[in-house]
Amino acid sequence: MEEKRSFDMIVVGGGPGGCTAALYAARAGLSVLVLEKLSAGGQMALTEAIDNYPGYDEGIDGFTLAEKMQRQAERFGAKTEYAEVLSLDLAANPKRLSTDAGDFFARTVVIAAGAQPRELGLAHEAELTGKGVAYCAACDGMRYKGKTVVVVGGGSSAAADALLLSRVAGKVILVHRRGKLRAEKIYNEPLMRAGNIEFRWNSVVAGLLHGAKLTGVRLRDVATGAETDIDCDGLFISVGRKPSTRLERGQLELDSGGYIAADETTKTSLPGVYAVGDVRAKPLRQVVTAVADGAVAVHMAEEFLAGGA
Ligand code: NAP
Repeated sequence: MEEKRSFDMIVVGGGPGGCTAALYAARAGLSVLVLEKLSAGGQMALTEAIDNYPGYDEGIDGFTLAEKMQRQAERFGAKTEYAEVLSLDLAANPKRLSTDAGDFFARTVVIAAGAQPRELGLAHEAELTGKGVAYCAACDGMRYKGKTVVVVGGGSSAAADALLLSRVAGKVILVHRRGKLRAEKIYNEPLMRAGNIEFRWNSVVAGLLHGAKLTGVRLRDVATGAETDIDCDGLFISVGRKPSTRLERGQLELDSGGYIAADETTKTSLPGVYAVGDVRAKPLRQVVTAVADGAVAVHMAEEFLAGGA
């Protein structure tokens, strides 16, 4: 039997926003395909413990929640294809999505491609990634059992990473370019209580010290410019994310940060194309806001398919 290539809706990305769009679309009787590069869950699947998604009173790990969301959508007929989208023609009718598994066509498209870790942009950062430089404490933290690691950043991700690493590593040095964290207050007390977390305020990582692997970092005081070298085995870069919108550039309106311009209707600058989750311009990027977007996008797509705007 020939594989189905045309759908009422194609969802690009299988994170919480994408899975929810697929669930709502399937339950609305639309044929829906999720294109996912690796495995379901997006950034969520890399999160060790999710304690702020309602309904899981004991918390849940992101990978398990991702599997549950995917299975729930598939229970109602949503399909998943593990393929990387290489190019898009979102203005065409039907819209065309070219992937490493061939071309797919859809009447509506939901972009749920999420965001990826932001780099510091230091010399040798790319070649040392996996050799001491890391972007995901939940994924790579276990390699640093009993060792010294530096975490860079001052947001909730950096705070959560420092805490997670404090349970594994011997010593954690949190480096932040300001005099206080912007992380949610809930992290303050556990960070202070951990006992093996040191803080280097008003400092940036100015350079990487290395042989074949990372051996340390050069810190620069942002006020005085003074530099100090410290030894460490790992550097976890946790300075926010950048949206995965390379393929949409030139086709959809983006904001100054590269996020897809779409308000809470999730409607983009092109009819029949919706942006959900971390890829959309929005004030709060959380699992709970991503899933809400997924439901709204399908509501809007149904109106569009029925002949509305
Ligand atoms: P974020 O809130 O944007 O924080 C990024 C941090 O990195 C900021 O402190 C920023 O410094 C710093 N930074 C950015 N570029 C830098 C550079 N080049 N060099 C040094 N420092 C740099 O990002 P996030 O922590 O990944 O959080 C993203 C979203 O997820 C937020 O909405 C957050 O609340 C949410 N989140 C929530 C939880 C939770 O437990 N509920 C956990 C993780 C994430 P400045 O402070 O100077 O800007």
